[in-house]
Amino acid sequence: MGLTYQSTRGGETGVSASMAILQGLAKDGGLFMPTEIPKLDVPMERLSAMTYQETAYEVMKLFLTDYTQEELKSCIARAYDSKFDTEEIAPLAKAEGAYFLELYHGCTIAFKDMALSILPHLMTTAAKKNQVDKEIVILTATSGDTGKAAMAGFADVPGTRIIVFYPKDGVSKVQELQMRTQKGENTSVVAIHGNFDDAQTGVKKLFGDKELEAQLAAKGFQFSSANSINIGRLVPQIVYYVYAYAKLLANEEIKQGEEINVVVPTGNFGNILAAYFAKRMGLPIKNLICASNDNKVLYDFFTTGTYDRKREFILTNSPSMDILISSNLERLIYLSTGCDGAANEALMQELSAKGSYTVTRDMREFMSDFKGGYATQEENAAVIKKMFDRTGYLIDTHTGVAAAVYGQYRAESGDHTKTVIASTASPYKFSNSVMEAIAGPDSVRGRDEFEVVDALSSLSKVAVPKAVEEIRNAPIRHNTECDVDKMKATVKDILECV
Ligand SMILES: *Cc1c(COP(=O)(O)O)cnc(C)c1O
Repeated sequence: MGLTYQSTRGGETGVSASMAILQGLAKDGGLFMPTEIPKLDVPMERLSAMTYQETAYEVMKLFLTDYTQEELKSCIARAYDSKFDTEEIAPLAKAEGAYFLELYHGCTIAFKDMALSILPHLMTTAAKKNQVDKEIVILTATSGDTGKAAMAGFADVPGTRIIVFYPKDGVSKVQELQMRTQKGENTSVVAIHGNFDDAQTGVKKLFGDKELEAQLAAKGFQFSSANSINIGRLVPQIVYYVYAYAKLLANEEIKQGEEINVVVPTGNFGNILAAYFAKRMGLPIKNLICASNDNKVLYDFFTTGTYDRKREFILTNSPSMDILISSNLERLIYLSTGCDGAANEALMQELSAKGSYTVTRDMREFMSDFKGGYATQEENAAVIKKMFDRTGYLIDTHTGVAAAVYGQYRAESGDHTKTVIASTASPYKFSNSVMEAIAGPDSVRGRDEFEVVDALSSLSKVAVPKAVEEIRNAPIRHNTECDVDKMKATVKDILECV
């Protein structure tokens, strides 16, 4: 079988890749990790001549060892096709001395498409391989982008249903409309009266609820997850870092073996963890710069060694990063303990009981290639404007956080290593904030969302993406709302398990 997966909390071992993807979360509440991080086994010169799809195969085959070549190639072909608006899938743009890796060319115009275009195929293939006869219910908490991308992937996929929970006042207007107009008989969208952390904690609780599991099983359902806690999200995200490096080499922007830095606007720590996996696979990455917004829990962690979620949750103009409990950090913590499930579990228990934990000096040393930074909303807006005024290149508010942090990092460290910035969303997904940043508050005052979209397009000369045109006049299909403590009842209601 090759590589297997184990829980970060020590309670489950020897799980195949396909079963880990089907399960989502381990039974002990931990996250699945491969027993080792494999090394890239094709030389960079060969990778530099490959398409995105070919690169995806070379990376993913090393992790998903129980999928046959045919199965994996078929999943890749069906995922990375004309749903993307460019054949490059993840193009690089150079601006102000950095390389922006544009991860928003999929059908919901945020980087979540990079993994969620393929996850439904990986999951239905896994169900077939493992003779699962139950209907798979995808439960997902979203800070705005995962929900839409997951529904776009799972809509009307036979044998699946999907239920998405989003924070009612914690997403942009375009994000909300994208979700509430979602088609598909198997899709459900629920606005919760709480923030993203409430949604994610609630979903994790439902996963651990044995009584609910039994009731669902009796009705022919089993849960899985489309959040980045699912290893089937993480693995496809490694691909674009390898691809970006190979393309920089092909374009003679870097030399063979030259180290680069990577800056990632971070929320749940999934995207940057994928970059770290790429590094561990042998990709020449020096530093991983973790960019946060005002919810700077990760910045504080990397600068002090203490993770402390006991603080005010701030709603910002980069809502997909408004998160205080970064789930995927658990995977790095686990690695930094030398894969000691008990030690990791003790820290996670402390986090849920006390709201904080502190790592040892050795653990900090282990993760010393991660550098934390954060940008305020003002700094974010300023960098978006400066970039646009000087180069005409338009970036969204999440990428703005990364660009601002990159500027600070370069000034403070004097490190001028060539740098890739993960560009995680189309500026049109956050039209109001982007327009306000480049043209001031009067440019958005009293205008509705689509007036701003059109104004942004005439100002920037960047065409309005199809994903935004689609929701302009689409009917609202989803109106469900619930309190945080009613999530279980709402799920049972949707699945008619009452
Ligand atoms: C989800 C998201 C992020 C944060 O990514 P994580 O993997 O959760 O760290 C950043 N930007 C955008 C636009 C996103 O949708």
